[in-house]
Amino acid sequence: MTDPQHVKGNRLDPWLDNYAARAHGLRASETRSLFAVAARPEVVSLAGGMPNLKDLPLERLAEATATMLRKDGGKALQYGNGQGLPRLREQIPEVMALEGIDADPEDVIITTGSQQAVDIITELFIDPGDVVLAEAPTYVGSLSIFSTYQADVQQVPIDAEGVIPEALEERIESLKRQGRTVKFFYCLPNFHNPAGVTLSEERRPQIIEICRRHHVLIVEDNPYGLLGFEGQTYTALKTLAPDDVVYLGSFSKIFAPGYRVGWAVAPPAVRDKMKLASEAAILCPSSMGQYSISTYLEQFDWRAQISEFRGMYRRRRDAMISALEEYLPGCTWNTPDGGFYVWLGLPEGLDAKEMLPRAVTNLVAYVSGTAFFAGGRAGEDHLRLSFCYPEPEEIREGVRRLSEVVARDLEL
Ligand code: PMP
Repeated sequence: MTDPQHVKGNRLDPWLDNYAARAHGLRASETRSLFAVAARPEVVSLAGGMPNLKDLPLERLAEATATMLRKDGGKALQYGNGQGLPRLREQIPEVMALEGIDADPEDVIITTGSQQAVDIITELFIDPGDVVLAEAPTYVGSLSIFSTYQADVQQVPIDAEGVIPEALEERIESLKRQGRTVKFFYCLPNFHNPAGVTLSEERRPQIIEICRRHHVLIVEDNPYGLLGFEGQTYTALKTLAPDDVVYLGSFSKIFAPGYRVGWAVAPPAVRDKMKLASEAAILCPSSMGQYSISTYLEQFDWRAQISEFRGMYRRRRDAMISALEEYLPGCTWNTPDGGFYVWLGLPEGLDAKEMLPRAVTNLVAYVSGTAFFAGGRAGEDHLRLSFCYPEPEEIREGVRRLSEVVARDLEL
């Protein structure tokens, strides 16, 4: 059968029969295929989750990078350690301490963004057909990874307080009855992408207790945890159960994604395997990126920068919520208290995926809720709005344009 992904222009890919089975699961994610359109200047993009970097002190960063290169260039431009730059591994626990997490530098492994950490973990734990538990909805970029490794992604419902413990337990038990192997639970506890919700403090120990009882590893993906708009933080799953959790952090949202530096903190045996898998794939994470970030943490007031980011994103969240109240009273949404995203529920009968081309024609872009469900099997009644990047007045105009599209679709 012809796989449409492998047809370029009208020519069939001559290597079609040579690909591994897992390559046939690769699809351009709904977000990525949208980027080109959404990047047109006349379109207000509420689609991408690009961090807003306009307040970074570029001149001072340039000077610090130049000084670092003069001093440490021989090492920053050389191959490095597979587990990551020791100096940066010492500094990362200082960042994690802001969320009350006590991490040992020995257990830190630096990765090419937390995206690579998800990739390694999936590679290490998933044979084709093994079950990954995730929230419904969940981060689209991890769904792509799970699909590449041919995981069976089972998604568990969430509500305003995050994943529902009873639903998690029921799903694990039902899978076990079917003789299925549940390998890990991929969880986004703080300022969820795309749902914007945070797992309540009350549920955190419950989730851990359930996973522990069923011997399910927890992968705690936490790139937004320091972006609570009131400076609030939550108890990390890692703090509650250090031996049962692989924690993932990233500099992408609290500094800049272009360095491609993230990290994992894993129980020692898992950490050793992750290091080997990472070395096999990439030899070592970018030395230049790690030296630059290490210099930034040493020489800049990065805590103040994070506070500034919080205020900047809070103002954008406020602009979005007030625009929603004004223009889209027929929709439902949550008011996130951190992070980048609002999860918008459409009036009955509307389909976010089907409506998207009309929205783009009306010069506003979003991501259809279907992107956040394995195989696009659900989520058409929701869409994700990102408020991180546009200016507040653009957010307002974007929501106004969206309301026109919704109104028209309701008439259809
Ligand atoms: N996890 C989540 C939930 C994300 O939103 C993102 C980026 N959008 C990532 C992981 C990957 O981030 P990075 O690789 O830049 O650290």
